[in-house]
Amino acid sequence: MVENRHNMNRSWNLFHKRVNMKIAIIGAGASGLSAANYLKKLGYHDVTVYEKNSYVGGKVFSYTYKDKMYDLGAIIFGKKDNYKISHELLTRFDIPLEEFVTPEILYMDGRQIAFEDYLKENYTVFNTLKAAILFVRLYFKFRGYFRKGFIHASPELFISFNAFVQKHKIESFADTLKPFFVGCGYGYYEDVPTIYLLRMLFWFVRSRLRLKGMIRTIEGLPIVWTEIRLL
Ligand SMILES: Cc1cc2nc3c(=O)[nH]c(=O)nc-3n(C[C@H](O)[C@H](O)[C@H](O)COP(=O)(O)OP(=O)(O)OC[C@H]3O[C@@H](n4cnc5c(N)ncnc54)[C@H](O)[C@@H]3O)c2cc1C
Repeated sequence: MVENRHNMNRSWNLFHKRVNMKIAIIGAGASGLSAANYLKKLGYHDVTVYEKNSYVGGKVFSYTYKDKMYDLGAIIFGKKDNYKISHELLTRFDIPLEEFVTPEILYMDGRQIAFEDYLKENYTVFNTLKAAILFVRLYFKFRGYFRKGFIHASPELFISFNAFVQKHKIESFADTLKPFFVGCGYGYYEDVPTIYLLRMLFWFVRSRLRLKGMIRTIEGLPIVWTEIRLL
């Protein structure tokens, strides 16, 4: 009995010592703010988040043009099973959501159209079909390398995507998707290593076939991280 009480006191003291610990988190992006939020939930109360920018959210950032908001970083939340923490936060803050149906392209003149309509407007059916066939060929050639991590990847996948496109003569395929990838900020074909863009391409095309369950916030993604800051 005395020993039990002694153990309980010891655990309480340890817990007390731990939750009084001073914790510094560098960066108020999604990772830093979720970490702060969860530490607070666990009882830690001396947590400070340091941010070099004047806004929170990091790569989650939106821009308003003519009263309309455009996400410049992250756009969508994946399905609940893979994005448990994010979905929990969305529910907790009661953030208005809509289903993510199709990406949109914004022209320089402010015209906004669905990605499929962009393709119809800019490419012939022949071009798009050719791109699709090349994609399937590429997918079967390289899909083995698209496990997590980079260690197993072929060195060929580390050259710039532009060099890869020229080597495999897949310009039509690459051009078709260029506005989406460059426009969304995933990088310029001249700079980005092939493995990064191909992973994105495979994910993108596969997920187009099963988009159900993907959502986005109506008022832009930064709202999630602004709300969490106020907790
Ligand atoms: C164009 C684009 C589209 C994307 N689309 C999606 C999507 O649709 N869905 C999705 O789930 N994910 C998407 N992502 C990925 C997602 O945005 C990131 O994984 C996520 O935002 C990373 O969060 P983070 O907190 O780890 O890093 P960051 O967002 O980079 O945050 C790091 C923070 O640390 C700050 N910082 C850095 N150094 C210091 C320092 N020395 N002192 C103080 N502060 C510092 C930075 O200013 C920044 O605010 C996309 C990313 C990009 C770029």
